[in-house]
Amino acid sequence: MAKGLRRNRNVKIVATLGPSSSTEEMVSRLFEEGVDVFRLNLSHGLHDEIKKRHEIIRKVENKFRRPICILADLQGPKLRCGDFKDKQAELVTGQTFVFDKERALGNSKRVHLPEFEVFKSLKKDSKVLVNDGKIKLVVKEVSENFVSTEVLVGGIISDKKGINVPDQLLPLSALSKKDLSDLEFVCNLGIEWLGLSFVQRAKDIKEAKKIVRGRAAILSKIEKPSAVDAFDEILEETDAVMIARGDLGVELPIETLPPIQKRLVRQCRDSGKPVIVATQMMESMINSPVPTRAEVSDVAQAIYEGADAVMLSAESAVGNYPIEAVRTMNSIATEVEKEKTYRQLIESSRTPLKGDVSDAITVAAREVAETTNVKVICCFTETGTTASLTSRERPKVPIIALTPKITIARRLTLNWGLHCIVTEELERFKMAVVNAAKAARMYGFANNDDKIIVIAGVPFNVSGTTNILRVAPADEKKIFEGEST
Ligand code: PGA
Ligand code: MN
Repeated sequence: MAKGLRRNRNVKIVATLGPSSSTEEMVSRLFEEGVDVFRLNLSHGLHDEIKKRHEIIRKVENKFRRPICILADLQGPKLRCGDFKDKQAELVTGQTFVFDKERALGNSKRVHLPEFEVFKSLKKDSKVLVNDGKIKLVVKEVSENFVSTEVLVGGIISDKKGINVPDQLLPLSALSKKDLSDLEFVCNLGIEWLGLSFVQRAKDIKEAKKIVRGRAAILSKIEKPSAVDAFDEILEETDAVMIARGDLGVELPIETLPPIQKRLVRQCRDSGKPVIVATQMMESMINSPVPTRAEVSDVAQAIYEGADAVMLSAESAVGNYPIEAVRTMNSIATEVEKEKTYRQLIESSRTPLKGDVSDAITVAAREVAETTNVKVICCFTETGTTASLTSRERPKVPIIALTPKITIARRLTLNWGLHCIVTEELERFKMAVVNAAKAARMYGFANNDDKIIVIAGVPFNVSGTTNILRVAPADEKKIFEGEST
């Protein structure tokens, strides 16, 4: 059966693997239900477990003979407090609480902060949030050895709780020691996308790129106000974006998330770089086989915005209903994308042409396909550029991305609408047309009597040179009729 497997939707589904979903049987079923990209979360899971999951994904890929994409997500520089004498302590509203350099175990008055030197850059009146924002503190005094705060909203603080400092650009490198070791580990396993957490500025991405050396493409997680502020430069530097609403919703007032999501999705679409909308999309499905109406609407909203992908985190990693969660996302996508309003929204939010030849060819491909009865746009792509640009156009007809490079096929699986196929190494455009015709029929995108569009950049293997568009019969025997080949 595997040979003809294709999705009936454009938006992609990312699912995080964890204890609930890491057997070969589960990964295989999740893929069949609709997962396009599997996320390995380095914040949880030991290297052995990650390696096992990686192996299983590649095995499942082999079984289905369809490229499957892996996103490895680094933990990033998240501040954490030290331990407490009684494992926890209660912070009472109105009282003073101190973070310091002392190694002694904490209590309700103070706690050790391992990254104290970083914390010292805080200013009076900076907000400090503990435990996903449940506890709120405000800085009163910063000195050489301690930072003293007033408790605005109290609660229980416990060992190694996460600390968010929303107002402040911290002098932290984007990659902690753990991140550097995790990075080498996953790059050696072989991954397509590397997720950078808590990116603050474009420089963080530049630094990561130097270490990654092309072994993976870079996906920047937007989960700090400073990243929202510096988004233009970040987008310029990164290869993809995740709107990480979990931490973002702790660091910023929660009501600011929907407008930020809309704006960032729009900008990513303009740039042709894939964007994932993430976190709490189907949160109630951790414990329930059906989502809430609000969750269904949230997923639909991201699809209407034209996001490349929607993501499952705890739902698929530790939830009780990973399969149902994927199935539900898949059904929402199929239903939304069938609707006329979906096309209207996608088309009204399309980017105007930038003006170079590659852009023009992909726009032309969409226009030819949509104004005639051409069934599918096939892009021959060596570096992924032609396919990403075509995906950016969000055409009405399906897109096939053909590439001789398995890494590129896997990586492009994240992009909206791309059905990725690995072909043999090709030298001539004519062979690309033949391969495209065969693929279009094999996966049911076209019949013998239909027409297809093929676009490519010639010479092959040079990025950004998309310069050929051909309308061809889907029956490859007819392609060269009347031509001297
Ligand atoms: P996380 O990132 O799941 O790694 O925290 C996503 C988010 O913060 O939304
Ligand atoms: Mn996060």
